[in-house]
Amino acid sequence: MPVITEAAIKELAGFKSAEGPVVSCYLDVDGRRQVRPQDYELRMSSLMKQVAAAHPELDLSADFERISKHVKAGIDRHGVRGLAIFSNVAGGLWEVLSLPVPVSSRISVNQSPAVGPLEALVHELEPLGVLLVDRQMARMFVFHFGEVVDRTELFEALPRDYDRRDDASRGTRERERNHVDELALQHLRHSAEVAFRYLQDRGFGRLTIGATDDVYAAIEPVLHPYVRERLAQRIHAGVSSSETEIAAAARDVEHVIEAAREADAVNRLRDAVGSGNKGIAGLAPVLQALNERRVASLLVSAGFIETGWQCACGALAALGPKCPVDGQTMTHLDDVIGDAIDVALLEGATIEICTGSADLDVLGSIGALLRY
Ligand SMILES: [Zn+2]
Repeated sequence: MPVITEAAIKELAGFKSAEGPVVSCYLDVDGRRQVRPQDYELRMSSLMKQVAAAHPELDLSADFERISKHVKAGIDRHGVRGLAIFSNVAGGLWEVLSLPVPVSSRISVNQSPAVGPLEALVHELEPLGVLLVDRQMARMFVFHFGEVVDRTELFEALPRDYDRRDDASRGTRERERNHVDELALQHLRHSAEVAFRYLQDRGFGRLTIGATDDVYAAIEPVLHPYVRERLAQRIHAGVSSSETEIAAAARDVEHVIEAAREADAVNRLRDAVGSGNKGIAGLAPVLQALNERRVASLLVSAGFIETGWQCACGALAALGPKCPVDGQTMTHLDDVIGDAIDVALLEGATIEICTGSADLDVLGSIGALLRY
């Protein structure tokens, strides 16, 4: 799985097709909603039909065929919840990105790859720091998009008789234990410094630590305050875990962090809607707020699809065909949500795709926190 970086996104965005349009296909393949492969394959086919019908002047068959073939050949969904595929057969563009986060299924045709949703993901999904530590070993990783992007190891051997429990006189043993405890503590301080250096040099959003209870209790107080304030729940992995085990455990931590962030966003929305202060819920008001460029943060339930209308002036509406902005006749859309997300991204809003939030569903599956 290639790591998505801002540089890679810029490079994609810089592709300009001289020959025919670029097809951008985002597909929600999250196993929690799309249980069978047919579920997302059908969704893809129906999106392709819609796009082909909306652009009778374009011949999209070669690109659609290649994308279909790739998706139907089977997707390895291990740790993958979304796909981003960019294709321009005539211009030699073919890029498939596996995403560890959900996306709204959407197909669009443009002169360049539609990278807005990718940019939003990169900004939202901060790298995760992982520190695995025991009394003489520390391993630090930074994960981004489910991949290790940086790592280091620190080994500080303790005296060989560290665990000796017998044969010493009590006084000697006390002194010895104090000595090794001091050595172990020194190692934990060094490990905490490694975490702080990573935070400064490469940056990460949250840090998760894998350690026994006593090591955790010893290292937590010696973490730099900037590191400590980023602590997430502990990871179920230790210094001797394999990299596969660590990656799987890091994904679990990321899911918990993501769920907490979603819950926080939905709570803020609910409070704002409830108090009538800079919060709106439901499709029609959200589209109106987008038309007025007032959206600071858009929240959408994953998989939410609704029909709507779009005007040549760019305005979106739940009801048509008359444009609420200039009165022109609008075009009917089978899925207005994808367009709403595009418009929100263009306006610089943050996007939160919420999975399984009953509270957001109650609010109409879509809502927005407003700038004013
Ligand atoms: Zn209009």
